[in-house]
Amino acid sequence: MESLDILEKEFDSELLIKEGDRLEKYARDETPGDYYFVPDAVLLSKEDKEIKRLFEIARKEGIPVVPRGGGTSRTGASLAVYGGIVLSLERMKKITDIDEENLILELEPGVITGEINKFLEEYNLFYPPDPASIDSCSIGGNVSTNAGGPHCLRYGLTRNYVRGIEVIFPDGSKEFLGGKLEKNATGYSLLNLLIGSEGTLGVITRILLKVIPLPPYSATLLAPFKELKDAATAAFNTLSSGILPSALEFIDKDSVRATIENSEKKAPFSDSGPFLIVKIDEFSKKDVEEKFEKIGEKFLENNASDVFIAEEPFQQEKIWDFRRSISEAIDRVGTVIPEDLVVPRSSLPEFISRIKELEIKYKTEIYTFGHIGDGNLHADIIKKQEWKDGGDKIIQDIFRTANSFGGRISGEHGIGFTKKKYLHFSRTEKEINLMKSIKKEFDPLNIMNPGKIFDMEVLK
Ligand SMILES: Cc1cc2nc3c(=O)[nH]c(=O)nc-3n(C[C@H](O)[C@H](O)[C@H](O)COP(=O)(O)OP(=O)(O)OC[C@H]3O[C@@H](n4cnc5c(N)ncnc54)[C@H](O)[C@@H]3O)c2cc1C
Repeated sequence: MESLDILEKEFDSELLIKEGDRLEKYARDETPGDYYFVPDAVLLSKEDKEIKRLFEIARKEGIPVVPRGGGTSRTGASLAVYGGIVLSLERMKKITDIDEENLILELEPGVITGEINKFLEEYNLFYPPDPASIDSCSIGGNVSTNAGGPHCLRYGLTRNYVRGIEVIFPDGSKEFLGGKLEKNATGYSLLNLLIGSEGTLGVITRILLKVIPLPPYSATLLAPFKELKDAATAAFNTLSSGILPSALEFIDKDSVRATIENSEKKAPFSDSGPFLIVKIDEFSKKDVEEKFEKIGEKFLENNASDVFIAEEPFQQEKIWDFRRSISEAIDRVGTVIPEDLVVPRSSLPEFISRIKELEIKYKTEIYTFGHIGDGNLHADIIKKQEWKDGGDKIIQDIFRTANSFGGRISGEHGIGFTKKKYLHFSRTEKEINLMKSIKKEFDPLNIMNPGKIFDMEVLK
């Protein structure tokens, strides 16, 4: 490949991966199934000037540039589906500043999300968004997908914490969007357009995050229920009574069992389920205790079989570690089609029962768990070998059902490569065309992560 020769001439060999096992590592992300695309090369960029030079070559040669953080996408978003160069941000991993007056953290995109709170602890500060992939995903990837997580119930999504980003666009220009500002009403929010754009508009090279004071006291509750509808009623009654926990998660009985069988993790009441898991964090021990007593009462009133309260950090961490292990454990059951749906939260119990009907109709297993307080449900479908359509019919049925409740096909994982053919379930033709015109404006040659969210024709 001619452009590979150009890249070799241009970049130090230490920055470029061209072959072998090291290259193959970038052929997959965390999307289950046969999604394997070996890129032509990987650039392990450390500086803006390398990214600018890469874009210069990519524009001239018409080759795709695919930004990649931790490679934990569940939708093939960080794969080089049309070949080209994977631009890995993994070496740009410095936390560069903490501004304690403005409560702003400045960092590079390759910082692993889990490192952020380790850094902030000594300042008694806290960054709430906590995707279950926290130990392997990067903050750049989180911003590019607007990642969520359990804490987002009380504190909001990644978007609510991004105050500024530096972006290099495919034409090689660099802009800083946003600032250390709590308010900003000066024209269209390009910052918010870039957040969640899945690497299709530009490369994020620097991030300013809002951080908040760290609540020093916390507790985690785990309650098993006999019936899903009881768990849901307990969750909604808690929220409507004015108690807002930091996290309110649901795990169905099959997902509890699959996690115990396929991971090293354990949870209390492991032979029962469904579970609700609640996190409370406050600035006084008394507030924590008051909240967990009220929540415990609400749960018992709504037929919880028991309530386990973890106050010690190590006990709490064990429960959350169990929660974070669910997806990987279910991936070991069979080939999973991971869905990440969102409906108005009051519709969630009915939506889950409809999904359970589809489980019977299609003679498969569907594991459900997720953020019940946000109406965001993960439905992991086990793909059957006899399905000649690769699962297309059941996926469409699930998406139609989500639509009938006023829902959307993704709450937090994004559209990426695997969901793009279903985008029309959640967005109108007018909306898709508007998104395409925006993409064309930012990236007329379609070199920026092509084949994601929707298809565009260009590419020389
Ligand atoms: C076990 C497991 C649990 C998960 N749990 C959650 C969860 O709770 N909540 C949630 O939201 N997601 C979850 N995910 C999905 C995934 O972790 C998130 O989408 C995460 O934000 C991706 O981050 P990453 O660094 O791995 O990005 P990657 O997978 O590398 O990339 C994701 C997208 O971002 C783009 N991108 C990455 N870095 C940049 C950059 N610097 N500039 C421009 N574009 C960039 C890529 O091109 C791609 O489109 C989970 C995944 C796994 C495997």
